[in-house]
Amino acid sequence: MSLKRVLIVNKMFPSSGLELLKKELETTVLPIMDYEADSLATIKAKISAGFDGLIWNTKHRLTGEILDLAGSRLKAVTTNASGIDHIDTDELKKRNLPLGNTPSVLDNAVADIAIGLMIGAARRFKEGVKEIETGEWKSGVQWSLGQDIANSTVGIVGLGGIGQAVVRRLKGFDVAKFIYSGRTDKKEAKDLGVSRVPFPQLLKESDFIILCCPLTNETKHIINADSLGIMKKTSVLVNIGRGGLVDQAALYNALKSGEIFAAGLDVTTPEPLNKDDPIVSLPNCYIIPHMGSATVETRNAMAKISAENILLALKGKPMMCPIPL
Ligand code: NAP
Repeated sequence: MSLKRVLIVNKMFPSSGLELLKKELETTVLPIMDYEADSLATIKAKISAGFDGLIWNTKHRLTGEILDLAGSRLKAVTTNASGIDHIDTDELKKRNLPLGNTPSVLDNAVADIAIGLMIGAARRFKEGVKEIETGEWKSGVQWSLGQDIANSTVGIVGLGGIGQAVVRRLKGFDVAKFIYSGRTDKKEAKDLGVSRVPFPQLLKESDFIILCCPLTNETKHIINADSLGIMKKTSVLVNIGRGGLVDQAALYNALKSGEIFAAGLDVTTPEPLNKDDPIVSLPNCYIIPHMGSATVETRNAMAKISAENILLALKGKPMMCPIPL
């Protein structure tokens, strides 16, 4: 009997997952990276060859068109990510295809990045590094003053796996108050000492706002000119969720005019961000290139879950991390 076939859409998919797949399946790794010009055309051409499983390790959108090209042989799909905003879940549902993702194992790595961005933005790392690099190091008692985390109010938008890991980390920072906004009460909130408040209240009260929610129709541009107008002039916005959570033009204006103090972004629109994008030039916008889950251990763990998701689904079993559709 011939082996079932899996297509892995990313030439850098970690060997930790690949080795698991190879034991049981015929594996095809597409030699593409997201940002190569013809990467989407390559995916479409290759997927038509017929596969039972698909590991969608790309930021391209998984659409009905691509699923049509894959045909009825396809029986299981997993992202190699926690977010699923790049997956047309309605199209999967229509075809009765199970979807998996790789949450939880990346919580700590992404939360570390959130803390790094908080400190980097609030304490003006970008300006400081520039002064070193240009030889224009200044000094003085009023030079390069930032914002304290101690005694602050921290607002978490989306108290899921990553949001909770952010709060756990900040327990050592003498934060005065933790609040969160979200669709439902989180059972973990009580132990973490975080209270749920309406989003407008979170905007008004927080000194630090950390976006840790998924990008959905409901959360698109949740940070816009109106919400930035409610935030404190001294506040710091951190986004480790998705670029689309923020109206970036409105954020530019707010940072430029001093409506808020600073921002730290792991995610932007678009990605990669053009070096000539106006937001890149702002001294108070500290941006890193979507590095949230980029550690060796985390990426290996994510690849293993992706592999297990496909292996289980192709045996007719529930995935390790299924997404309810
Ligand atoms: P998660 O465990 O599913 O948590 C997401 C949280 O967001 C849930 O608590 C959910 O609450 C909440 N939420 C949903 N809609 C909301 C809304 N309208 N307003 C406020 N909160 C809302 O997911 P996660 O693993 O923590 O990841 C969160 C997001 O981070 C992902 O979707 C992804 O976009 C992003 N991410 C980024 C990186 C990176 O490298 N920067 C890495 C991984 C993930 P309910 O349960 O009440 O809906």
